[in-house]
Amino acid sequence: MAVSDHVDLPRFIEGVKKRNPGQDEFVQAVQEVAEDIFDFIKDKEEYHHYQILRRIAEPDRVISFRVCWEDDRGNIRVQRGWRVQNNNAIGPYKGGIRFHPSVTESVLKFLAFEQTFKNSLTGLPMGGGKGGSNFNPKGKSDHEVMRFCQSFMTELYRHVGADIDVPAGDIGVGGREIGYMFGQYKRITNQFTGVLTGKGLSYGGSLIRTEATGYGAVYFLKEMLGHIGQEVAGKTAVISGSGNVATHAAEKIVQLGGKVLTLSDSQGFIHDPDGIDQAKIDWVKVHKTRRRGRISDYVTEFRSATYHEGQRPWAVPCDVVLPCATQNELNGADARTLVANGCMAVSEGANMPTDLEGVHVFKAAGILYAPGKAANAGGVAVSGLEMSQNSGRIAWKEAELQQHLVDIMRGIHQRCVEYGGVAGTQRIDYVRGANIAGFKKVAEAMLAYGVV
Ligand code: GLU
Repeated sequence: MAVSDHVDLPRFIEGVKKRNPGQDEFVQAVQEVAEDIFDFIKDKEEYHHYQILRRIAEPDRVISFRVCWEDDRGNIRVQRGWRVQNNNAIGPYKGGIRFHPSVTESVLKFLAFEQTFKNSLTGLPMGGGKGGSNFNPKGKSDHEVMRFCQSFMTELYRHVGADIDVPAGDIGVGGREIGYMFGQYKRITNQFTGVLTGKGLSYGGSLIRTEATGYGAVYFLKEMLGHIGQEVAGKTAVISGSGNVATHAAEKIVQLGGKVLTLSDSQGFIHDPDGIDQAKIDWVKVHKTRRRGRISDYVTEFRSATYHEGQRPWAVPCDVVLPCATQNELNGADARTLVANGCMAVSEGANMPTDLEGVHVFKAAGILYAPGKAANAGGVAVSGLEMSQNSGRIAWKEAELQQHLVDIMRGIHQRCVEYGGVAGTQRIDYVRGANIAGFKKVAEAMLAYGVV
């Protein structure tokens, strides 16, 4: 097979589009990765001969199922659930479950694809997967959420397992949902195993799992800044989102001496020029997580802030940005505004929050730009440590886990530096570095297996 048959990037992307009609998010994620990988493998015949990228961009399995549940008024509700098992070349499938009305097969395929690279980057033995449903937990009672989770797991249980596929949380799936799903898995299979991560501490969960994604995104930012002789202290930060990732990112920014200016939800954002300090972050955590309230209520609690309905926070001038809400929340125009206002670094706590045009703007501007697959890998990394603890039937101490997280984020940064250097400059292209380093490990394993 001639190498030249496979080196044409536009033809490759055309093929991905044709095979995945209407799946825009998935095509976008593959394109972003392929742009870097094609360049990397152009003179490496074995990768073409074995069609490695073509195979990684075709999920091993897309499981789609019906989820029936009864709401509090006795109505039978019917929804769709999915588990996308993208690739298990380097370990069991691993990745979160998302419950949100925006969930489609395309969204889960892009997330499972991204997860494959992210998990590889952590250095831990985890493949890539993702699951979820268009079920919206917002406004549902605890009992409704419980019945939905139990029904979801009644179908999912046959496809997952501690050494097969290990789901966790994501948007709309936190400790409460994981508890209901783990309880149902245990009841159906009569097994107490590490089949899910993000569990409660009383039944096999790991310390610092809750903090890990947000903290990790800031550790990655710290590494990038450190690489050019800068630090987080004294920097102003714009953060989107107000859930688990955003609040813990904000917490770590504050701990390192930075100032957080914004938080948001799907309805709008709050801007607090005085800074969102630890006490205010604690209020948001309780208000959003425990009371499941809206971020707009922040302005009645803290008078220094303003609320901006229907807007995202990208026009607020800042030094660093942490998009921690959802995919494609930051477009090309937003990226240009941020760069024009002097933003010097972006560390993505969410998965693919910047669209393809935005990525190109950040790259062209030469600012520090860390894609989610590198910057938010701390969450799944501590999930990997939860798997290790479950297998060993042990629980590690907090200090030990904190150190692991710092080391893992540092390791990811090093791998990005190793593969992301821009020729003739001191600059690091973190997207390229993350894509190539993540790809290499998976590809090596696939080459070792031959065609399977
Ligand atoms: N949902 C998280 C992510 O996007 C965590 C996945 C996990 O812990 O398995 O990486």
